[in-house]
Amino acid sequence: MHNITRRSFIISAVTAGAAFGLKGPLEIFGSAAHAQGGNPLGVPQALAEQGFAKFKVGSIEVIQVYDGHWEKAHDPNFVRNASLDDTKAALKKGGLTDAFVPVPFTITVVRMGGRTIMFDSSTGGQLAPTAGRLVAKNLAAAGVQPSDISTIVVTHYHADHIWGLMAKETNAQLYPNAEIIVPEAEHKHWTAPELVEKVPEGARGNVRRIQATLPSWKNLKSAAPGTEVTSGVRSIATYGHTPGHTSYVVSSGSDSLIVGGDVTNIQALNLANPGWHLVFDAIPALAEENRRKIFDQVIADKSIITGYHWGLPGAGTIQKDGSGYALVPVSV
Ligand SMILES: [Zn+2]
Repeated sequence: MHNITRRSFIISAVTAGAAFGLKGPLEIFGSAAHAQGGNPLGVPQALAEQGFAKFKVGSIEVIQVYDGHWEKAHDPNFVRNASLDDTKAALKKGGLTDAFVPVPFTITVVRMGGRTIMFDSSTGGQLAPTAGRLVAKNLAAAGVQPSDISTIVVTHYHADHIWGLMAKETNAQLYPNAEIIVPEAEHKHWTAPELVEKVPEGARGNVRRIQATLPSWKNLKSAAPGTEVTSGVRSIATYGHTPGHTSYVVSSGSDSLIVGGDVTNIQALNLANPGWHLVFDAIPALAEENRRKIFDQVIADKSIITGYHWGLPGAGTIQKDGSGYALVPVSV
């Protein structure tokens, strides 16, 4: 049930080369930032101001849209199996500020075959005060109108991924004409009536909001793992971050892109240290198992993968780096 099929990941070296070849050399995350005198939030200033990054994977046009970031205050329990000092040291090593944990939010939109598909939906400006620019500004700046989006594919039901589907005060749908595809296991978990009582007080707001909205939406379709959820998009069960967390492979001909979702939090912590169990991972051992599995596959296949909390550009190939992994970002 948790298998990541090799077939889903096949991307040729030629394809990967075509995606990168015309845009110059690659840079290991952090190194360019150091050279330019700082990238403390994980999103270079110029890209943060632009609000988006675009690149191609063969014929697939990929648009990553920046929704802002969360300046998460330090909490000694944030990484369950690492100290606060180790956390700060890892942030510093990644070229980030260590005054807080900078958590960027970045949506991936793909255009292929005349269709526009968005993965997750942002915070909707309803979470961190610095986030929420997506719908208001950056989507339009990237040349995407909300009415262009035919399909929204959801990785999981954490608030920073789904609250952008609904209006702040009324919970009204913001994309009533799009088909919304959600992971079957995730939907089942969050819509179980007894869940409200099972989760800590602080998590009940999101559970109640989910239960008051998504089950009644006629344009919502739940999809099984390992299936083609919409033409050219295949689901991969990467359970662990949440019970039904799901990643996707987007394919067009022989070209493919992996939309990872939250298989990690920010690179500096969780890609460099795949064994770190962040407090957001509901089933930490399973999250780690699937994290390692997907990255090893991405390396083997030379695939390009995106991460929701990887800033801008929040996509690239993965390399082994000591005991962890490193992102080699696409050039944009
Ligand atoms: Zn998230």
